[in-house]
Amino acid sequence: MNSDPTAAAAGGALAPDLVQHWVDGALRAGVGGRTAPVTNPATGQVLRRVALADQEDTEAAISAADRAFPKWRDLSLTRRTEVLFSFRELLNSRKHELAAIITSEHGKVLDDALGEVARGQEVVEFACGLAHLLKGGFSENASTRVDVHSVRQPLGPVAVISPFNFPAMVPMWFFPIAIACGNTVVLKPSEKDPSAALWLAGLWKEAGLPDGVFNVVNGDRIAVDTLLTDPRIKSVSFVGSTPVAQYVYETGSAHGKRVQALGGAKNHMIVLPDADLDLAADAAINAGFGSAGERCMAISALVPVGGIADDLVARIADRAAKIVTGDGTLGCDMGPLVTREHRDRVSDYVDAGEASGARIVVDGRLIDPRGDAGGFWLGPTLIDHVTPDMSVYTDEIFGPVLSVVRVDTYEEAIELVNGNPYGNGVAIFTNDGGAARRFQNEIEVGMVGVNVPIPVPMAYYSFGGWKNSLFGDAHAHGTEGIQFFTRGKVITTRWLDPSHAGIDLGFPQNR
Ligand code: NAD
Repeated sequence: MNSDPTAAAAGGALAPDLVQHWVDGALRAGVGGRTAPVTNPATGQVLRRVALADQEDTEAAISAADRAFPKWRDLSLTRRTEVLFSFRELLNSRKHELAAIITSEHGKVLDDALGEVARGQEVVEFACGLAHLLKGGFSENASTRVDVHSVRQPLGPVAVISPFNFPAMVPMWFFPIAIACGNTVVLKPSEKDPSAALWLAGLWKEAGLPDGVFNVVNGDRIAVDTLLTDPRIKSVSFVGSTPVAQYVYETGSAHGKRVQALGGAKNHMIVLPDADLDLAADAAINAGFGSAGERCMAISALVPVGGIADDLVARIADRAAKIVTGDGTLGCDMGPLVTREHRDRVSDYVDAGEASGARIVVDGRLIDPRGDAGGFWLGPTLIDHVTPDMSVYTDEIFGPVLSVVRVDTYEEAIELVNGNPYGNGVAIFTNDGGAARRFQNEIEVGMVGVNVPIPVPMAYYSFGGWKNSLFGDAHAHGTEGIQFFTRGKVITTRWLDPSHAGIDLGFPQNR
């Protein structure tokens, strides 16, 4: 074990050949020796390997979190706030380091990586208000000379399991709030881009977080299953694909845990005939191809209503052709996909759409990237005349592929979106306030944008979809995050005096 905090924070996550675990404030190599490659998607080269935790490694992290819990829970709100605030300051001053780590392992362009860090930082800033957020209520004289008050208390050790597409932001949707509320954390990041989590662990140590409050286990299903079944873990916050989210929700719940499991998405952008088509085309490009479409809030289905489709598709095609795809460190607009397998899978969907009769308007398979030939490239792809039965529409593709599903009426558009099994994000583009108001009311989706293509809620609201995009009751961060990471307790108090004397076997009534 290496206990030098700077080894993890200042490049230890990048420099070594092996990305280790972080347990009890120190690096841990892992017992089993299983590893997986971590690749730079812009070159195809293996940068380093990541340790895959066995049950024993995962249990070591849980034990560390369990041991650290009583002291951290009892630390004053003032002291906890100091640590959170210091973490925020360090993160803000060193965000470029973190963004570079994200770009090297995920592939998204540097600006986008910085944007991800900024959105995670907002949650840290929200959590800095923990003293206010954890205030309970007090009712004096609820009954005669009887007072009632409520408190919210932490759960204990909690687990966070995150996906590859936001290696810093998604963990930060959860752990700042969990820690602020007095819990201890075991984070299991994606094995595809694990270094951001380890860098964040080192930053916590520098910020003064006691050892054991924040732990990282790298790994695969073995680590996940241990977290889902170990009785010391009290809650699970998961983000990933829908089948795994459902599995995590069912397994964690069956083991008595509180679970929030955010799943996949198929986000629609409806454009009404009165919309400004240039602004709508810009938005479709940004939301469809930003981060190479590897965002759970990416727009993957464009739904033009009425006679505007040809015009809108032409404007989008024009813009898509100008996007520079290439290495995220070279100032390009769009980076590679995360792995070769994923790129091939996305490309296969384009083939399947073409074979089933859709028209490829812009073909990302033919891209000439600005970057290494070994990178996992696929350029922006625009497919028109997609119908709801084609796999390019029914499946979550998670790549730079924008499908155009033409409809004649507003009602048809609503029916399409509400009939989709996912319900993460949706957007409507219109200048008609009445139509937008009706849309907000009728649409069965958790996050709605009106002329906003990626309506990711601010940290002080809660993030989460409906239907197959979220299993469980609580959305991420905001007040739902505070509630998820705490349990309510109500205390009824009276200080006995002679007026309380006497025997009464009746059910207590307020007087
Ligand atoms: P994924 O489901 O493959 O992996 C997510 C996490 O689960 C990873 O930590 C992974 O190691 C683990 N995992 C994978 N397979 C597992 C299994 N069989 N058993 C137990 N654990 C397993 O997802 P991904 O490819 O990393 O991320 C992309 C997916 O995440 C997309 O579907 C995307 O929509 C979704 N996502 C959703 C949101 C949201 O807010 N709803 C946000 C980001 C990403």
